[in-house]
Amino acid sequence: APAPPSALHRFSDPGEVEALRGNLLAWYDRCKRDLPWRALVRGNIGKQRWGAMWVSEIMLQQTQVATVIDYYNRWMQKWPTLQALAQASLEEVNELWAGLGYYSRGKRLQEAARKVVSELAGHMPRTAEDLQKLLPGVGRYTAGAIASISYGQATGVVDGNVIRVLCRLRCIGADSSSPAVIDQLWDMANALVDRSRPGDFNQALMELGATVCVPKAPLCGECPVKQHCRARHRKLFGKPPPVPDVEDCGECVGDCPLCPPATEPWDSSLGVTNFPRKAAKKQPRAMRTATCVLEQRGCRGAPKYLIVQRPNSGLLAGLWEFPSLPLPQDLQEEKEREVLADHLQAWMGQPVAAKGLQFIGEVIHIFSHIHQTYVVYSLHLDGDVTLDPASFPSRWVTEEEFHASAVSTAMKKVL
Ligand code: SF4
Repeated sequence: APAPPSALHRFSDPGEVEALRGNLLAWYDRCKRDLPWRALVRGNIGKQRWGAMWVSEIMLQQTQVATVIDYYNRWMQKWPTLQALAQASLEEVNELWAGLGYYSRGKRLQEAARKVVSELAGHMPRTAEDLQKLLPGVGRYTAGAIASISYGQATGVVDGNVIRVLCRLRCIGADSSSPAVIDQLWDMANALVDRSRPGDFNQALMELGATVCVPKAPLCGECPVKQHCRARHRKLFGKPPPVPDVEDCGECVGDCPLCPPATEPWDSSLGVTNFPRKAAKKQPRAMRTATCVLEQRGCRGAPKYLIVQRPNSGLLAGLWEFPSLPLPQDLQEEKEREVLADHLQAWMGQPVAAKGLQFIGEVIHIFSHIHQTYVVYSLHLDGDVTLDPASFPSRWVTEEEFHASAVSTAMKKVL
């Protein structure tokens, strides 16, 4: 078994833990933001409370609060109960989710609602362990958040905000995405969580990270737990506070798995933002995709566009897009037109002349791991085009219908 972490990186004084819980909760009661899911969670009981909480947690994964609010309100209006969500089609879910990114989240939410309704007789799992085990798309963080906030289970949570706060409170400078550090942070979060108000404590810790202990310029002067913060102590006094089993200077000795690597020691110009640290991110993969906006005159001359549906798995699964084709790198423009024309021919069932494709420009869109360049062409069609129902689903839409469809933000940029 790995050796327990040095006292520098732990909360070993029960009195300090009590004080930290009290200070954090008092601050949360005074300063918490008024967010729509908090009102819904407060105003509901049982299943509805759980559902309101769950949707917000899934939407907030990888998405900012400000962006989520509008999506959340529309979602809860459309599907106020799990039963309603279980009956929704994937198409409806994708339409509402369009623009929020990481589309598999919406799909898994709906799959989980169906599972609760059809396989668990409408009964939601109540512990973090069961939530994680039984529901698709519910990971360790989401399970902990739902179980503590909706059911009062005294279990901690670790998300990006919590990682930042805990790493600063306890001077953890090793790569915060490494399994060793993540395990320590979960142990710490589980030990710290307030036993009588676990949901509020977890929300308070996350709120602190989102509003005070922010990545670049934390507001340490206003921080309710500043007296417990070893990074701040180090910034002010040049060293962390003395702790029992650590040398006088407060530094770990030897190869501590939680201290910054010897090659990247404390940088006094960074202050508390020395923590947390992450290994350098992998560069996103570069991809080029040719895409064609096919346009036809609809009734009263208003344009109509052809959109086609992506396969049901992989990136942007089940979403609609203009006919698109991934391109090999460094393909000549002439060749690009030819392969795109061949591809369009397959959709339209009639020959398409490469020279008829008009190059419009390029649209760049960054997905989490892909740097995507869409090479945009357009083609105006005069006569009627009958689509082949045997190929992937496709349809003609007006501009208004396009925006109401399950299309990605990237495709909206293309249009
Ligand atoms: Fe974060 Fe500063 Fe508070 Fe420490 S004192 S927890 S660094 S805001």
